[in-house]
Amino acid sequence: MNIMKPYTTFLLIGLLVGFSSCNAPKNGIVAHRGAWKKNNLTENSIASLRHAIDLKLTGSEFDVWRTADDSLIINHDAHYNKLLIEETNYADLIKFKLSNGEKLPTLHEYITEGVKNNKKTLLVCEIKPSEISKERGKETALKTVETIKKLKAEKMTSYISFDYEILKQIRQVDALTSLQYLEGNKAPGEIKSDRITGVDFHYSVFQKHPEWIKEAKDNHITLNVWTVNDAEIMDWIIKNKFDYITTNEPELLNQRIKNKK
Ligand code: MG
Repeated sequence: MNIMKPYTTFLLIGLLVGFSSCNAPKNGIVAHRGAWKKNNLTENSIASLRHAIDLKLTGSEFDVWRTADDSLIINHDAHYNKLLIEETNYADLIKFKLSNGEKLPTLHEYITEGVKNNKKTLLVCEIKPSEISKERGKETALKTVETIKKLKAEKMTSYISFDYEILKQIRQVDALTSLQYLEGNKAPGEIKSDRITGVDFHYSVFQKHPEWIKEAKDNHITLNVWTVNDAEIMDWIIKNKFDYITTNEPELLNQRIKNKK
């Protein structure tokens, strides 16, 4: 009898288990609208993105809108200085500076900075649903993907949206990219058939549906959660080993993760 055979099998299983558990980074910190809060930087500014990269965070999130004349710009709200972005031309929007003196960044400028001296930080790109039409939102998504590909940033980008149709549209033009759904109204098992690869839900959704955490893991759906700023909720999420945790408080979250080790 060859006694090496079972030994080799055990060794192989051990290696595989070891690899799969090392492979998925757990509790990765994603800075929500960049790392802006602690140093009083402006949300969604180039400075907040740079700071997230310099902190070597797992990810940095930002929001994309499309102006009336088709510029893709970075801003959270539908309005910028009381102007509705989707109904205003780019030249009229940039008459107003960000609070830190920066020009309102375009997606092109933002990603150009994002690929610079960046070995670790995933660019988490939220495409805002259009308030004009579903179609316009899908066009914005396609133009966003086009810009990111042109800047060769597709491998370091993950797309998120509250608009499920936007994610499905991206899947049609990119078979591999990471897509995470933000509206907490679909179970992780349900999104799998549409080849959406992740859920990024408000933490209250996971408190209401704790069974979705296991369902996501069982279905190899990436788990992300927003916006976790409270230490107690951080601890609950850390204990449940999410892939990503989106926060305005990356420094505090880093401390809580270290405390758990
Ligand atoms: Mg966002």
